[in-house]
Amino acid sequence: MKSDIKSLTLDQIEKTFRVWGQPAYRAAQLVGWLYRQLACDWGLMTNLPRALRDRLANEYTLNCLELVTLKEAADGTRKFLWRLHDGNMIESVLIPANPALYGGGSDRTTLCVSTQVGCAYRCAFCASGLRGWKRDLATEEIVEQVLAVERWYRATCKTPASAGPVSRIAGDETGDPEAGLAGDALSAPTFQQGTRLVDNIVVMGMGEPLANYENLLKALHILNAPWATGIGARRITISTAGLAPQIRRLADEKFQVRLAISLHAATDEVRSKLMPVNRKYPLRDLMSACKYYVDRKGKMITFEYLLIEGVNDGPDQVKPLAMFARRLGAKINLIPYNPVEGLQWRRPSATAQRAFHRALKSLGVTATLRQEKGSDIDAACGQLRLRTEAQQGSPLTD
Ligand code: SF4
Repeated sequence: MKSDIKSLTLDQIEKTFRVWGQPAYRAAQLVGWLYRQLACDWGLMTNLPRALRDRLANEYTLNCLELVTLKEAADGTRKFLWRLHDGNMIESVLIPANPALYGGGSDRTTLCVSTQVGCAYRCAFCASGLRGWKRDLATEEIVEQVLAVERWYRATCKTPASAGPVSRIAGDETGDPEAGLAGDALSAPTFQQGTRLVDNIVVMGMGEPLANYENLLKALHILNAPWATGIGARRITISTAGLAPQIRRLADEKFQVRLAISLHAATDEVRSKLMPVNRKYPLRDLMSACKYYVDRKGKMITFEYLLIEGVNDGPDQVKPLAMFARRLGAKINLIPYNPVEGLQWRRPSATAQRAFHRALKSLGVTATLRQEKGSDIDAACGQLRLRTEAQQGSPLTD
C-alpha cells in the first residue's frame, strides 16, 4: 500500500529525493506546494519536472479531506464534518478563543482535531464512544484537518469582510452534503495573503489521542515544523481521558506540548461510572502520572471538568478536586455539559455551575467556568458525525 506524502517529514522527503537523484531544493519546493499552497493535485506543482511529479504520483498518495458539512454557531464556532478517503467521517471544530460576539475579532483561532474514527473508551457522556472504535487516523489525516480548514478559509474568503459575528446557523439540518457549506461571504473570516487562520491546536476531538500515540506525535511534529504550518508547540494541547503510561511517555518526550486531563470527577466511584478507563487507571495512578509529567516538564497542566447535573456537580467532588489541583499546581477548566441526543445527562443550572465554581475558588485553586461554545451546532464531540451517519443509514460498528 502506498503511503501518503503528508505522512513524511522534510528530512524523509530529502532523503528520498537524494536516492532519486533530485537536487536538494526540490524537497523545499514540494513542501511549499503541500503546506503553503495547500495543493491537492500533483498536476498543480508546475515547478517540479513532470517526470518527478509522475514518480511521486506512482509512489505516494496525496489525499485531502472532503468537506461533508459545515455548521456555524452564533458564537463563531464552526464544526466541520470531513469524509476520509475510505468513506469514514471525522469532525474538527474551529473555535475563536475570544468569540467575536461583541463586534471585535477573535484573538486566537483554535482548531480541535480528531485522532481516531470513533473511540474505544466509551465515556458515558460522550457521543464519540457511542458506536465504538473503527480505526486510528493516519498521521496525514491528523495533519490534513488543519490544512483542510486553511483551504476552506482561503476558498470562502471572497471579500475583506470582518470576521465579526455570524448571525445565522449555516448548518445542514438534513444531511445534504451540498447544504450548509460556508458560501456566505458575510460569515467568511478575513484572509490576508500569507497569513494562516489556525494558530492553536487542541487534540480533543473524536478519539483518545494517546491511544494513537505514534501517528499523533508525528503529525504534531509536522504541524509544528517551520517548513509545514509552524504552529508553536506551546500552542498545541493534547487532552487525554487518563492513559497513565502514555502520560509518562509523553513526559519523556523533548516536545513541549501542553497537557490537559479530561478528569470529570474527583472520586473513583463517580469517575468510574462516567469513564470506564478509570477502572484501569484509577485516580491514584492517574495523579501519579500527572505528577511525573509536571516534574519532568515544569509545566502547568489543565483539568477539564464537564459539569453534569446531579452526577459530578455536588460538594462531594469539590474538595478532592481542589486537593488534586493544588497538589499538581493544575488549573481547572469547568465546562457545562452539552447534552447529547440519546444520553440522559443534563447540564446543571447556571446557578449550580456558578456555585461549584465559587466553591473551588474559595479553596484557593485557579478555575474558570468556560463560556458555552457552539451548543447550537452539535458541538459535543462526535455528535455531528453520529447524526449524519444515522441520516445516511450507516450501520453500527459494534
Ligand atoms: S470523551 Fe474522549 S476518550 Fe471518552 S469516549 Fe469521548 S472521545 Fe473517547
